[in-house]
Amino acid sequence: MLTAMTNHHKVVIIGSGPSGLTAALYSARANLEPLVIEGFEAGGQLMLTTEVENFPGFVDGVMGPELMDTLRKQAARFGTTYISQDVTEVDFSVRPFRIKVGDDEYTADAVIVSTGASAKMLGLDNERRLMGRGVSTCATCDGAFFRDQELAVAGGGDSAIEEANFLTRFASKVNVVHRRDILRASKIMQDRAMANPKIEFHWNSVINDVIGDQSVSGLQLTDTRSGETRELPLRGLFVAIGHTPNTSLFVDKLELDDAGYLVVGDKLSNDWDQASPYATRTSIEGVFGAGDVVDHTYRQAITAAGMGCQAAIDAERWLETQGR
Ligand code: NAP
Repeated sequence: MLTAMTNHHKVVIIGSGPSGLTAALYSARANLEPLVIEGFEAGGQLMLTTEVENFPGFVDGVMGPELMDTLRKQAARFGTTYISQDVTEVDFSVRPFRIKVGDDEYTADAVIVSTGASAKMLGLDNERRLMGRGVSTCATCDGAFFRDQELAVAGGGDSAIEEANFLTRFASKVNVVHRRDILRASKIMQDRAMANPKIEFHWNSVINDVIGDQSVSGLQLTDTRSGETRELPLRGLFVAIGHTPNTSLFVDKLELDDAGYLVVGDKLSNDWDQASPYATRTSIEGVFGAGDVVDHTYRQAITAAGMGCQAAIDAERWLETQGR
C-alpha cells in the first residue's frame, strides 16, 4: 500500500499518447519525476495503426505501437513512472490537485491533461479486426499507402469530404458512402468533391460489413430506402464520422467547448490570467492541456507531441513561480 507521501507528484500526466509521453519526457528531464496515468488503452490512437511514415526521424517509417513503446521507454529513462489504469475522478478545486484511480488517490502540484480523442467507428467487428490493414481513420497518415487503388470514405461531414478530396491524390477512385442523401459538409467542400471526377457518392447507404481476410477487399452496403444489399470491391476504408474528445472526467471541472474539447490558452472565456505566457493553460491554474483532447484541427502525432512539449515547459515554469 502506498503512503500519502509516495502518492504525491509534482507533475501528474493523464493520458499516454504522443502528447502525454512527450510531456513526460520533458518533465522527467526537468527532474520533475512525473507520474503518467496511462489508462487501460495506453498509447492512444497510434496503437491502432500499422506503419507511420510521417513522424520525423524514421527514414523507413515505424510501426505505431513500436513508436509508442519507444517514447514510453525514453520517458522512463529519465524517471517517469507509469500506472496502467484509468483515472476515475479528479478534484481540481483543492491544492494539491487530487486524482483518483479506483481506490487509490494521487496528488499533484501540476497536472497535464492529454487524454486524446477517439475516432468514432461504425461499430463493426471486421472494421476493428482490419484496422491498420485497410481500415484507417486518418487519410493524412495512411493515404499514401493506397496509390492507384480504389477506396471508400464513410461519412458526410467536412472530415469525410476533406479526406475524400485528399485521397484522390493517391487513389484510382474514392467512393463516399453516406447514410443520407444530403451532405453535412460545408458547401465549398461539397462543390469541390462533386467536381472531382475520381469521387463517386453512394447516397442512402450504410456499411454493413467490411470484407477481407488479411486485408480489406470490399464493403457490403445496404441501401436504406430499398433495403437492397450490394458489394463494393475496394482496398481501403477511411472512417471519417467524427471524433469524441476524451473529456468526460473534466465536465464541470475544466472549460470545454461545445464539442467537448478542452479549451486552452487565449481561447479561454474564464481566463485566470490573460497576460499568462502559458499557451497550454486550462481554466484552472496549474492544470495544462495538450494533444488531440485540445486540438480538433491537426490531429497528428507530431502536433500532439509538440503540444505535449509545450505543456511540460508551461508546467515546469509555472511550478517555478509557485516555489515548487
Ligand atoms: P460531423 O460534422 O459530426 O460529421 C459526421 C458525419 O458522419 C455526418 O455526415 C454523419 O452523418 C456521419 N455519421 C456519424 N455517425 C455515423 C454512423 N454511425 N454511421 C454512418 N455515418 C455516420 O464530423 P466531422 O466531419 O468530423 O466534423 C467535425 C467538426 O470539424 C465540424 O464542425 C466540421 O465542420 C469541422 N471540420 C472542418 C473542416 C474544415 O473546415 N476544413 C475539416 C474537418 C472538420 P449525418 O450527416 O447523417 O449525421
